[in-house]
Amino acid sequence: MEALKNRRFIIIVDTETSLVLYVFKGVDKDYLVSPCKMCTCSDFVINFLWGKRKHPCYHVIGFYIALKEQKFVKIALSHEEVKEVVFEIVFQGFSKLLRKALSRQMS
Ligand SMILES: [Zn+2]
Repeated sequence: MEALKNRRFIIIVDTETSLVLYVFKGVDKDYLVSPCKMCTCSDFVINFLWGKRKHPCYHVIGFYIALKEQKFVKIALSHEEVKEVVFEIVFQGFSKLLRKALSRQMS
């Protein structure tokens, strides 16, 4: 799966509240995912939740594999940063801060 190699499955830990978030980092859109359960993408909502398809979206299934194979990226952020990342994903569909934090962590 291309997404596993490209480090798209991100686990964010809030260092102050121990809140844990699962994020699928897409090419131009990010989604909040509850692993093995639900996702905020339109494919999940339209085809699985409202539609008749029996399996959820690529992100939910992908996270299941990423967790099983330990192919996720785990990152610790402050509460302020977590708030910003969630705000960006929910209201803009894309988090710039997440990308900044990831490149900071890798350098
Ligand atoms: Zn999805």
